[in-house]
Formats: sequence, structure tokens, C-alpha cells
Amino acid sequence: MTTNDESARTARKGPSGTPRRSERTCAGCGKHAAADELVRVVHDPSSGEVAVDLASSGFGRGAHVHPSPDCVVKALKGGLARVFKAKVEGDAAAIGEQIVRAADRRIEGLLTGARRAGQLAVGADVVAEALKDRRAHLVVVARDAAAATKVPAIEQAIASGNAVALGDKQRLGSLMSGRGEVAVIAVLHAGVAAAVGQTYRMSGPFRSAVSNAAPSGAAGTESLDVRSEEAWSSSEVR
Ligand SMILES: [Zn+2]
Repeated sequence: MTTNDESARTARKGPSGTPRRSERTCAGCGKHAAADELVRVVHDPSSGEVAVDLASSGFGRGAHVHPSPDCVVKALKGGLARVFKAKVEGDAAAIGEQIVRAADRRIEGLLTGARRAGQLAVGADVVAEALKDRRAHLVVVARDAAAATKVPAIEQAIASGNAVALGDKQRLGSLMSGRGEVAVIAVLHAGVAAAVGQTYRMSGPFRSAVSNAAPSGAAGTESLDVRSEEAWSSSEVR
């Protein structure tokens, strides 16, 4: 992928001159990190606003920042303006919300693709079977799926951090092309599971703030959120 990102200059080159695992500089703390551990943000010169580009589409001029509220705040105070050589508008809470929404959209896209490829197990019984057979790489649980989280195999997947919380049963059902309500899905494809997990981890530090602010939110789902976020906030995040 070609990139016109300022911070791409720090990319390490492999023997053939192609970028190996390219590194970027966080516009907040100034530390280097692998590009896929940072959130890419793009800048609209006309409005001065920044937008999150979680899929790293390469669109526009980009800067990178750690998926941490601290780094986003610092980046807004000067790092982004330096990269873009322009005034930057935006507040950390709005960027955090954008990161969560972009992550949800990306995860939904990944799940839709996996469904079409026959790489999902859908519904608590089928998911529990897939977990027992070790065919399930990651479990996606609706936030209002209280009963499904009590199924032992699923409970264990959540406790071991091998689960992410996404949407509600209705939303998961509509992703599964209108199967009614769906409480739990397992991803059977290792690559897709890794991409979903990585996207979820990126947005994890911003997630509690958003869900606390959201007016919806089914009762009794907080325990799942907390557990999965603790599991995901492992050393890999920073
Ligand atoms: Zn940083």
C-alpha cells in the first residue's frame, strides 16, 4: 500500500526494500509502534476536523495515535497539528466515540463476510458445540444475551477473554440476515477471529465511556462488558 503519511518515514525496510512490519509514530506520546497497533486519523483541511480511519484505507493524509484516551488528548493538543501542519479541530470524547463506531462497523463487516463464507457458528447450542470441538476461535456475544452467557462453554470463553461483546440480539440477528434474535456467534476462521479481536482491542479503552453515555443499554449486561474489557486490556494494547 502506498501512503503519504508523514510518520511513514519511520517504516523499517525489509531486505527487498519493501516495508516489513511498518512502524509509525504516535502523535500523542511520540513513541514508535507497529502501524496495526495504532489508530489512523485523517484530516480534512477545509474544516480542520479529524476523522478516524480504522480500516487504514489510505484515504487522505494520515497521522497515527495509540488507542488510548491519554494519547488522543495529547495528540489533539499539538501532535496532530504538527503532522498535518494545520489547525486541528476535534475533541477526545468525539474521537473515542468515532473509534468505537468504526470498530463496530468493521467487526460487523468481518462477521458478514464470515457468514457468507460459512465460517460462523450461530446460536448458543451450535456455538457451544464448536467450542467443544475447538473449531471456534472467538465468540461474539450480544450485550443483552444474559442466558447464553450461562452456557458453560460460552461462560468459559468469556472468562478466558476469548469473547467480545457487540450490539444486541436483534442487531446480531439482522447481521445473520434476519434470523430473528441471535445471542451468540462463534467465528470459525482464525484470520477473521484475529481481525475481530484486534479491532475490538483497539476500541476497548474507549468503549466503557461510550456505553456509559449511551441512553440505551440493556440491564444486566455490564458484567460481560467489564470481563471482556479486562481480558482485552492485556499488554498488547500498549
Ligand atoms: Zn501514544
